Amino acid sequence: MTSVEEVLTSNLYTQQTKKLYKIGEILGLHEDQLAALSTPERVIQVKVQIRGDGGVIKTFTGWRSQHNSALGPYKGGVRYHPNVTQDEVIALSMIMTWKNSLLQLPYGGGKGGIRVDPKALSREELEQLSRNFIDAIYKYIGSNIDIPAPDVNTDSQIMSWFLDEYTKISGKIDPATFTGKPVELGGLAVREYSTGLGVTHTAKLAADKFLGGIEGRRVIIQGFGNLGSYAAKFFVENGAEVIGVSDSKGGVIDPKGLDVKKLEEVKKATGSVINYPEGKKVSNDELLISDCDILVPAALENVIHKYNAPKVKAKLIVEGANGPLTADADSMLKERNIPVVPDILANSGGVVGSYVEWANNRMGEIIGEEEAKKLILNRMEMAFNAVYNKYNSLGDQDLRTAAMVVAVERVVRAMKIRGLI
Ligand code: GLU
Repeated sequence: MTSVEEVLTSNLYTQQTKKLYKIGEILGLHEDQLAALSTPERVIQVKVQIRGDGGVIKTFTGWRSQHNSALGPYKGGVRYHPNVTQDEVIALSMIMTWKNSLLQLPYGGGKGGIRVDPKALSREELEQLSRNFIDAIYKYIGSNIDIPAPDVNTDSQIMSWFLDEYTKISGKIDPATFTGKPVELGGLAVREYSTGLGVTHTAKLAADKFLGGIEGRRVIIQGFGNLGSYAAKFFVENGAEVIGVSDSKGGVIDPKGLDVKKLEEVKKATGSVINYPEGKKVSNDELLISDCDILVPAALENVIHKYNAPKVKAKLIVEGANGPLTADADSMLKERNIPVVPDILANSGGVVGSYVEWANNRMGEIIGEEEAKKLILNRMEMAFNAVYNKYNSLGDQDLRTAAMVVAVERVVRAMKIRGLI
């Protein structure tokens, strides 16, 4: 196996379990307790069949993993991607358990996915796919059971189809069953950009501690979807300079700085940021090891691993995506004194935004955009401070370890009180 193949096939669940076992050592948890913590409570696999354009039958596989409900109903997104696997969805649901716990949300962890290339489907096919997925899982979700939301390649339109199908099939009018909805269906304007806003805010808090401030820092962002594009905009608003971005087709770097507005226009008009007229074209691999102050991997998992971690030039890494660093990369970057703000803290603005939306729906009210923004950032700041204090008190450990200790401890306490471990 070549090194590239090894990384591409490295299993996210294995990576996440390794990270959990490390925390187990610090918290003095036994092997049987760790098994109880890592094993998902329920994993639903479904066939999602559609009648495609021209009458062709297209069959896909989807999953919903419900990892842990000690703290509340399962909560997490649904992704559409050609490489989705059951193991990946389980691992992502475990990350949600820690994320929701760290942010003190009244939720457990869940995640869903369909193994599909949504870019190869027409809008009608995408709608059928989304509705049929809900038909297959509707018995297992609900505002007090499991609350799906957007994730990679899913958005407020897909949430609208989810909600509409759920309402028809279950006979329940309960918009709090899904978050990340459009404003017209009870969503919050802020949810659309809350992940990007939160990533930039935690980057700023971390830059204040580790780099002497965010002003003038050179930022590279891998991924220019919902998260990456909003984060780029907010970095600039905070006085930083975005010098490199990429999407699945490749990237562009300009040490003089990129014009974020222009990047958005180019992406919209041509489908990719590689058509940005200035700067140097680079591959995603080159982008990750290019010179910068802050690197934000905001695309997919396992992109920084033992082969490229020694070459990373950034002084601070902020995980926009879920699981972009392998466990090996974690230890190598720690050796090199490069702080990593972990996913469960850095990208939690999305689920905190979801929480505000869900709570609003249940109370039958909608708060204003500014108030929602304040709630989200306060909650994230509280979690950041808890992580930073734990990091200082643990001594020679990285930020992920500190964040995971806080998060896992809370889940362990809830499970103990329930008599589960
Ligand atoms: N998919 C996002 C995440 O990974 C948000 C989940 C949610 O809002 O429930 O955190």
